[in-house]
Amino acid sequence: MATPLAIGIDLGTTFSVIAHLDANGHPKTITNSEGDLTTPSAVFFDDDNVVVGKEALKAGAIEPERLAQFAKRDMGEAVFSKPINGEELPPEVIQSYVLAKLKADAESKLGPIDKAVITVPAYFNEPRRKATQDAGQLAGLEVIDIINEPTAAAIAFGVESGFLNANGESIKTERIVIYDLGGGTFDVTVMEIDGQNYRVKATGGDVYLGGIDWDYRMVELLAQQFMHKHPNLDPREDAVGMQRLLREAEDAKRSLSARESVTVMFEHHGQGARVTVNRVDFEHVTADLLERTRFTTNSVLRDAGFEWSDVTRLLLVGGSSRMPMVSRMLTKLSDRAPDASLSLDEAVAHGAAIYAGIRLAAGAGQPQQTTIQNVNSHNLSVLGVEAATGRPRAHVMIPRNTALPAKSRSQFKTQKPDQRSVVVQVVEGGDASGNNSTSIGRCVVRDLPRGLPQGSPVEVTFRYASNGRLTVKARLPSLDREATLAIERDSGMTDEAIQDWGQKLKSKRRKN
Ligand code: AMP
Repeated sequence: MATPLAIGIDLGTTFSVIAHLDANGHPKTITNSEGDLTTPSAVFFDDDNVVVGKEALKAGAIEPERLAQFAKRDMGEAVFSKPINGEELPPEVIQSYVLAKLKADAESKLGPIDKAVITVPAYFNEPRRKATQDAGQLAGLEVIDIINEPTAAAIAFGVESGFLNANGESIKTERIVIYDLGGGTFDVTVMEIDGQNYRVKATGGDVYLGGIDWDYRMVELLAQQFMHKHPNLDPREDAVGMQRLLREAEDAKRSLSARESVTVMFEHHGQGARVTVNRVDFEHVTADLLERTRFTTNSVLRDAGFEWSDVTRLLLVGGSSRMPMVSRMLTKLSDRAPDASLSLDEAVAHGAAIYAGIRLAAGAGQPQQTTIQNVNSHNLSVLGVEAATGRPRAHVMIPRNTALPAKSRSQFKTQKPDQRSVVVQVVEGGDASGNNSTSIGRCVVRDLPRGLPQGSPVEVTFRYASNGRLTVKARLPSLDREATLAIERDSGMTDEAIQDWGQKLKSKRRKN
């Protein structure tokens, strides 16, 4: 049997990329059927046809109610946030259409593909990872592994610029900061690579910060200047005007990465204006956004227990790190030049392909030597009530950025005399009072015997496995009673649902 192709897929929020290792073991992006290196993660549902990518965006501009975009944000939820043609679809299904197009386009160039490594953001929790794996399965792919985007980026930079050999092995210990500013999210990861051991030391970010925020600031600049000429005409006030302005703004922003100033011709309701924006002005009105990324980068580095002088590499990923203000700020902060030598759009898929190659070689008889150790990206806590104040209180069991696997045990007490059940409410993220946390399940010990004194000890244990699966145990040692909860959220697809959808999608693909 021929050795399977080493395929890596960057399944992005706005764009996706598929890459493979060529005959010389070098990662290469596979162009899609339109001839592009990146494919918009957009799916258009026609009456009996499903269209993915650039064509989906075009069709969606006319009939937006049939267009599904940004499904990645909803991975791990039961259904996609927007019903399509009145039907509620699991986000996995939408993502599986994107994967199926990448797979089919790649197959037309390379022959059959059945295995792939898919990347996810470092902050994805276990249900979101599982959803990604399920999307792969629905697309007819065996997902040999799911790895973090920054890990993939580090592998690609390392192998392609020579600080890692072809097996992904470091020559000396590397401490790497990966700064990833994309279209809609920002994240920073600090990682240590020692030989073939990859250890994520800390990760953090801002899921509501990205290139789009810079676009909106540019919209303000353009609109103000337009209104200088036409004081009673605000293009932001109608949806079509705003959409056009936003498109112009993004274009202007990209131009300013290469030039000091840009001139935009803008027309609205028959009134035209020529507006010019300088890079200096644009940087001035977006300085606070950049400052947020600076602040996060520093605090993640601190969480990792490193100083800038410990860091051996600073890598830039994500389209928005092309803005000159980003590398300038990072150079000043770290006293070193950041490395943006790889194509920002392709680095993650390339790293995934290299990793797929390493995994497949291990499967083909060579020993598996690469290990990847991750951290949990959010606090995992028990949400209780503070006896003195009656206010909700989150007791952190496993703090964020703890190396996995992790285990933790704490003692609590029953709150009332004659308590008949104990409920352990498990939450992820949020502040000390549990605000903004996500509830991920409850562990309940029921039918306790009458007369249990107030303040009886309750022992709670959290076990967090390397694959991100959390098991919670609540035990009343005085009664020898316990309850165990393997956290499985209500969300996500059941095995039967995956099978059903798998059949449906298979027959649809045959029809198309
Ligand atoms: P990604 O999600 O990594 O593909 O990043 C896409 C984001 O990068 C979008 O917000 C783009 O507007 C932005 N972007 C791409 N190229 C440039 C550029 N040359 N200058 C500034 N932003 C860019």
